[in-house]
Amino acid sequence: MEGIHLNDVHVQFDHPSGITIAVDGVTQRVPPRSFVSIVGPSGCGKSTLLAVIAGLQPATSGSVDINGRRVTGPDRDIGVVFQEDSTLPWRNVSENVEFAMQMAGVSKGERAAKAAAAIELVGLKGFESSYPATLSGGMRQRVALARTLALQPGVVLMDEPFAALDQQTRIFLGAEVRRIWEQTHQTVLFVTHDISEAILLSQQIWVMSYRPGHVIDVIDIDLPDE
Ligand code: ADP
Ligand code: ADP
Repeated sequence: MEGIHLNDVHVQFDHPSGITIAVDGVTQRVPPRSFVSIVGPSGCGKSTLLAVIAGLQPATSGSVDINGRRVTGPDRDIGVVFQEDSTLPWRNVSENVEFAMQMAGVSKGERAAKAAAAIELVGLKGFESSYPATLSGGMRQRVALARTLALQPGVVLMDEPFAALDQQTRIFLGAEVRRIWEQTHQTVLFVTHDISEAILLSQQIWVMSYRPGHVIDVIDIDLPDE
């Protein structure tokens, strides 16, 4: 049972004006060490599906298993990167990365070396002492990426991590994520509303539809270099 298995996942939100079905019976598998993108229009359920896999949103019914273990809540082995800039402004780059490790219970002795490695991996070497306010939006998202990667999770979930950035930076950072994946071979699930970004980065694309909550197609991309 390697990889991520989604078993008939349903998510329903109840609110005063009725119910919203955000995910409507998704059964899919993410092969271990693969790079899968989820694309679809706004509101089709991409973020909700990712949140279920991250253990941040309980499924109304159905289940998610990662490497044979049922997801019941957030887990150290699942890293998440969101669109919003989540750097802590009063901590420099190193401290941002180390603080996340401290929260995750990484011993003090291990933190500095792991932070340095992650900072180098995302191309921020030389910026260890910089504060987020002095960095561009793209570089702040690199910090967010480093913070997640420093924990060396087996699974990395990204929810439109670069959507708030200009297109050039987005393309550049997309290529960086791809390069990092080629080095680490973590299992990556990448949510984007940009189909060309998905084609460029991933090995497989799940297309979600305007009939919300459904994966209507799975596209396998043949990569020339593999
Ligand atoms: P996407 O990421 O594809 O834009 P979402 O997963 O964010 O889609 O949302 C899917 C649907 O679920 C939308 O109709 C959205 O309004 C609704 N939804 C998402 N989160 C909540 C919530 N916490 N409460 C109520 N409705 C929600
Ligand atoms: P990227 O996401 O590729 O870093 P940015 O738009 O964030 O793109 O920045 C472009 C380049 O400008 C960076 O690669 C970096 O070399 C440089 N840069 C951005 N912010 C700073 C800064 N605060 N100090 C020095 N160089 C910076």
